Amino acid sequence: MCDYADVFIRRKPQMKSHRKKSYIFLIILMFLSLVQASAYAVEVRAADRQPPAVTVSAAGTKAGFILYWNKRADVSGYEIQYSADKSFKNAKKLLITQKGASSRTIKNLKANKTYYVRMRTYVTSGSSRIYSRYSKAVSVATASSGAYLYKEGFYCEKIPAAVKKRMMGKSYRTNSHIKLSDLRYVRVLYYDYNGKIKSGELVVNRKIAKKTVKVFYELYQIKYPIQKMVLVDNYGGSDEKSMSANNTSAFNYRTISGSRSLSNHAYGMAIDLNPMVNPYVKNGRVSPANGKLYKERNVSKCRGKYKKNMIHKNDKVYKIFKKYGFTWGGDWSSPKDYQHFEARS
Ligand SMILES: [Zn+2]
Repeated sequence: MCDYADVFIRRKPQMKSHRKKSYIFLIILMFLSLVQASAYAVEVRAADRQPPAVTVSAAGTKAGFILYWNKRADVSGYEIQYSADKSFKNAKKLLITQKGASSRTIKNLKANKTYYVRMRTYVTSGSSRIYSRYSKAVSVATASSGAYLYKEGFYCEKIPAAVKKRMMGKSYRTNSHIKLSDLRYVRVLYYDYNGKIKSGELVVNRKIAKKTVKVFYELYQIKYPIQKMVLVDNYGGSDEKSMSANNTSAFNYRTISGSRSLSNHAYGMAIDLNPMVNPYVKNGRVSPANGKLYKERNVSKCRGKYKKNMIHKNDKVYKIFKKYGFTWGGDWSSPKDYQHFEARS
C-alpha cells in the first residue's frame, strides 16, 4: 500500500510535468500557426493591393516617339505597351526595370504613323509581378522621313496629310498669298504650368521653321512655362478662343484685329506666346478679355494668378526670340502686343 502509494505519489508529479510540456508545446504550435497565418494574410493583402498607376504623355520624333511619365518611388518598375492599333492588338511590350526612370525613346518605328501608347507599373512579390491598371492611352504621330530633326522631340516637316485635314476651312483656306507648301508643321517639347513635359505643335512659315524649333528648344532648356500649345484649329480657327485658353500658336490665315490687312500670322511669320497672360492691348481694350488683369505689367502690382509668367523686355524669353531675329510686340508704342513675336525672314 505504502509502496503503491509511494509509487502513486511519485508518479503523479511526473504526469503533471508531462502535461505541462504538452501544453507548452501546444501553445508554441498555436503561436507559430498564428504567426504563419498573419504572414499569409499580409501576403494576400499585398497581392490584392494594386500598385499605383501613372499618367503618360508622348512626343513624336523621327520614326519613333518619346514617352514621359510621373516616376514613382513605390514601384519596382514599369511596362510600356504600344501598338499601331487603337485597341492594342499585337501590342509590343517593353519592361523598364529602373524605377528612377521617367522617360524612354522608342525607335525604329514607321515614319509618319500614329501609335497608341499606355503604361502600367508593377511591384515584385517573390518571383511574380503585380501590375497596376493601365494608364490612359495616348496617341502619338511619328515624324515623316523627310523631317528636319533638331533634337529628340524637336522637329519640323511639311504639313502632314492629317494636319492638313485639321487646318482646311479653319486656319487655312485656299488663297493667293500663302500656299500650304510654304508652311511647316513644328513639334517641340515644353514644360507646362504644372512643370510637366508636354509635346506642343505649331504651324509656321518654312522660312522660320528651323529657328522656331531652336527657339523652343532653348525655352525647354530653361524650363520656360507654357500653358498650352495646340493648333488654333482645335478652337475652330478662332483666335479669341485660342487666346482665352492661353494657347500658344502661330499660323492663322486672318486679318489684323480691327483691320482688313493680313496679319503676320496669316504668313506664319508670327508666334503668340501664352496670350492670356500676355494680352494684346489697344486703347485700353484687352484681348483676350480674360487676360485683363495682365494689362498691368508690373509684377508687384499685377493681381493675375500667373503674373510670374508675363514676358518683359530683356528677360530670358525675350532674349531667346531676339537671338533668332524675332521682334516683340511689347516693344511697340501702340498697340501693345505682349504675346507677339514676329520674324521678317
Ligand atoms: Zn500675334
